[in-house]
Amino acid sequence: MIIRGLQPFSMLDFPGKFSCIVFVGNCNFRCPYCHNPSLVFDPESQPEVTREYFFDFLSRRQGRLDGVVISGGEPTLHPGLPGFVDMVKNMKYLVKLDTNGTNPEMVRRIHEANRIDYIAIDYKAPAARYSLVTRNAGHAALVQQTIRYAAEQGIPMEIRTTVHRDLLGEGDFTIMRRELDGLGAKRWYLQQFNTTSPELVDDSLLGRPTYSDLELLHIAEAVGGDTHARGLTGSLIKHRGVVKVSD
Ligand code: SF4
Repeated sequence: MIIRGLQPFSMLDFPGKFSCIVFVGNCNFRCPYCHNPSLVFDPESQPEVTREYFFDFLSRRQGRLDGVVISGGEPTLHPGLPGFVDMVKNMKYLVKLDTNGTNPEMVRRIHEANRIDYIAIDYKAPAARYSLVTRNAGHAALVQQTIRYAAEQGIPMEIRTTVHRDLLGEGDFTIMRRELDGLGAKRWYLQQFNTTSPELVDDSLLGRPTYSDLELLHIAEAVGGDTHARGLTGSLIKHRGVVKVSD
């Protein structure tokens, strides 16, 4: 598994923990709002962070970082992911996995060998409309399998959905909440579409009107359950301004 990016420090991405983030390339989806098209389409264009550099970095951060977030692209496309998690865990770091959920078998393998400490799984649309958002057919059942497995195992979990008005209408959120409830998932973040991104998988979305922060908040409230609206900086959207996730 080749690391294509390293963010050395984050207080937001691994709830309650100080973490670094590694990014890997490739993805089996083509979400129009994806703001990492170079990682998705052309990972070789991104400089490699060598294993030696990364594990030396981790050894120098002992005691200052709690965990490693593995993100992408889609990490579970890489056969080397379980071995990479082994190495991180052997250094006594916690692991958070960001995944689009399409490889339940690998998630199970990793969790059985090395407990996953936190998992963030994308749920991109109602199951019946999944391929319209991901532009790749036939994966909704696999994503649901991953969510159900994580819920049954009690892995601390959040579900994330990037929201754009062209892709998700207001009726879709009620359906998605019902589907997530049926899978045992609770915490669900509706993430604001990033209108300032310099490039997207589908740049035409940038000029299209979408939900305001307040509309997103109202949608989350109307849907109910453990559903929240999240702004561009990873902070929760609330009625009186914006409050950090850790609040
Ligand atoms: S946003 Fe979509 S295309 Fe981009 S990395 Fe995530 S799953 Fe893949």
